[in-house]
This record gives sequence, structure tokens and C-alpha cells, in this order.
Amino acid sequence: MFENISRRFQDVIKTVSGKATISDKNIEEAVEQIKLALLDADVNLRVVRRFVNQTIEEAKGEKVLRSVSPGQQFIKIVNDKLIHFLGDEKQDLQLKGPDTLSVVLLAGLQGSGKTTSAAKLANLLKKQGRKPILIAADLVRPAAIDQLETLAAAIGVAIYTDRENNNPVKVVKAGLKEAKKGLYDVAIIDTAGRHQVDDALMGEIEAVAKEAKPDEVLFVADAMTGQSAADVAKAFKERIDITGVILTKFDSDTRGGAALSIKTITKAPIKFIGVGEKTEDFEPFYPDRIASRILGMGDVVSLVEKAQEVTDKEEAEKLEKKIRKATFTLEDYLEQFQKIKKMGNLQSLVEMIPGMQGAVAPQDIDIKALKKEEAIILSMTLAERNNPRIIGPSRKKRIAKGSGTSVYEVNRLLKNFEKMRLMMKKMVKNKNAQQSMMSQW
Ligand code: GDP
Repeated sequence: MFENISRRFQDVIKTVSGKATISDKNIEEAVEQIKLALLDADVNLRVVRRFVNQTIEEAKGEKVLRSVSPGQQFIKIVNDKLIHFLGDEKQDLQLKGPDTLSVVLLAGLQGSGKTTSAAKLANLLKKQGRKPILIAADLVRPAAIDQLETLAAAIGVAIYTDRENNNPVKVVKAGLKEAKKGLYDVAIIDTAGRHQVDDALMGEIEAVAKEAKPDEVLFVADAMTGQSAADVAKAFKERIDITGVILTKFDSDTRGGAALSIKTITKAPIKFIGVGEKTEDFEPFYPDRIASRILGMGDVVSLVEKAQEVTDKEEAEKLEKKIRKATFTLEDYLEQFQKIKKMGNLQSLVEMIPGMQGAVAPQDIDIKALKKEEAIILSMTLAERNNPRIIGPSRKKRIAKGSGTSVYEVNRLLKNFEKMRLMMKKMVKNKNAQQSMMSQW
């Protein structure tokens, strides 16, 4: 699913992700590409405009320019925007407790997947320990009652039908009476659709809703119809109070236009998605997961979030100054370890980077050695960390004992640290020399 839109977003990501600096012009170019991707995905034009304006506004702010990796930061903003337009948080059904009958009404066009979704929802609620009953009130489509009956039998859920009656309001009334009598706790009503929005359909659904007083009115929309799914939902919303959306045929949706338009156009959140023809192919809708699928990336966003927590540009500059002046101490070194630890297991961190999966073997990252070094530094006093030259033989013995290591290991750390300090100093000097040479040219 989402192959097309995902490919387009990947191109944008490739363009910006490696950039060490980002200008307003880069941002505008990337956002223009996003705009085209969204239009191509059949997202509603109003939604596209909002998306683009909000992204530009946030990306041009301080946050991106000041961050250590502006490209990644920009991607994070786009990801957050996608989540927002998909509906922010996962939204659950608002049902009454199991002692009282709750009513869920399904509405939508013919062929959108209403009947199938009614059975899928019943199946899900049954698995969650509820006692659902289906009410077959689609009296327009000839095979609808038979279809629901077959599905109900397959999932072992009760069903109310009345083939003699052609008044859906009466059928619903009798069905709900039956539901209360049988001590069911959720009644799911399948209603009639039409090929397009018309007054007769709207009048019928309004009358049914008035009778049923539903706790939830779920609009069933076919994801493959793109932004027109959002337009139809809006037309329904003008007549009945839609509380959520079931987006069907998500498995065949390569573009994502419906998913990205519906919440903004209707204010009703997507609560479930249909991901296949079987009754099990039904899932709650998680905006964050869908956003990552659209961006087609590993868990790069949590990676950026983690990196952000532990580094910022000012701190990096402070560190560079220390290195240059050779005042970088074991205490600073220790701080770096702790940052690495805060970012979690190094191996899993590497795995989160797209394209890096499997690239680094676990044995290449010597966590054990790092931990040992950390223990050694932690056993030193602050004075020792800031000036290792005072560490004579007796102090070394004490440190080795305190850290559960040997004097040999303490010596090795001190030697390596001194080597590293000199090398870092040289590297920073060279970098500055190069920069000043360049600026003289
Ligand atoms: P209704 O007229 O709204 O009741 O629509 P149906 O429930 O009869 O569904 C119309 C067609 O869409 C049927 O062939 C279903 O099998 C199919 N369908 C429904 N939901 C999904 C879904 O999530 N994925 C796929 N691939 N097909 C679906």
C-alpha cells in the first residue's frame, strides 16, 4: 500500500537528508516536491495548501537552522505534519459499558464495503469480549441481507433480519428491541447505500439515525476513490452526525489521498481500516504508523528524536572549543559515553537508520569495552578526571579496584585517552586551518 506516494516522499528525503546546512531556498524546493507528491496522491487541494503552508512555517523557524542535522529535522517536521493530517492520535470507539446496549450505525455509498465492514467490526468486538448483534437494514441492494447472514454465520455472531419488511426504520426498531431482549451489548446496523449521494438516501439514513440514536455513526469510505471519498463523507456529515470513518480497501490504495484528506475535510477521525476481503482484515487506524509507511522509512523519526534529546549545536560547539584548547578532559569523555548510552543500545540505533540494517555486525560495536572505560572513569575523583597527570601508581591501584578492572586496563585507558586527545586537537586545528585558508581565497 502507498507505493506511489511513498516513492515520491523518499525522493524528497534523499534530497534533504544529507544536508549539513539548509537554506530557506532548500526548504522551498523540498516543500514544492511535497506539494506535487500530495497532488499526485489525489489529496484535496485545500488540504495540500494547508499542509504546505504549515510545513514551510515550521521549517523556516529556528528549530531547523539551529539543529545539528537540519535535513533530519526537516523530515521530522514533515512526519509530524503527516501524523497531524491523518488525525493525530488513534481514536477508539466510544461505546457504553457492557451492561447497556450501544449502537453503531454504518453509512456510505454502495460498494464502499459497508456490509463487509459491519461483519469485520462485529468480529473484532466479539474478540474483545463484547456480545455484538448485526442488524441487516440494507433493504435496497438485493443480496445485502444474504451476504451479511453468511458473514455472521462464519464469524459466529447473531444477526437480525426481516425479509418481509421494506421499511428500514421499522427493521431497525425491531432489531434494537431484539438486541435488548437478547442482552447484546453492541448493535451494528448495516444500512442501504446508493451509487451516489442523493436525497432519498440521505432522507433514509437520517430517519434510521433518528430511530437508532447511535453512539457511533461510522462513515464507510473506499480508499481507492481518493479525495472524492472525503467529499462524499462531507455530504453525509451535513445530514447526519458522523463520529468516525472506516476506510476500506486500504490494501489496494497506492496513493493515500483519501486517508490524508478525510480528517481535515470532515473533522471526523478515521477509526478503522479495511486491509483485505477477509473478516480478519480489519485494523484500528494509527496515524503515526501510517505516516511512517508514507515516508517509507525505518524508524528514522524516533532516531532523530533521540539524537535531538542528547545533542544540540551549542553544546557541540562548546565541545569543539574544549578540544581545540586541549582542555577536553576525562570528565568530558565520560559525558560522551553517557550520551551514547542515553541513545539506547548502539546496535539498535544503527538498525533504525534506513539502509544500515545489517550493515554493522554486533561484534563491531564493543559495548563491553565502553562500559569498562566508563567504570574506570567513574572510579576517579573529579580532580583526577580533569588532570590525569596526578594519577600515580597508588591511585591507579585504587581506581582499578574500585572499577573491578586491572592496573593494566587503567593504564591503557589513560594512554588511549591521551592519544585521542592529541589526535582530536590536530584534527580540529587542521579543519580550522582549512577553513581559514578557504576564506582567504
Ligand atoms: P457495500 O455495498 O458497501 O455493502 O459493499 P460490500 O461490503 O459488499 O463490499 C464491496 C466489495 O468490496 C466486496 O467485493 C468486498 O469484498 C470488497 N471489500 C470491502 N472491504 C474491502 C477491503 O478492505 N479490502 C479489499 N481488498 N476489498 C474490500
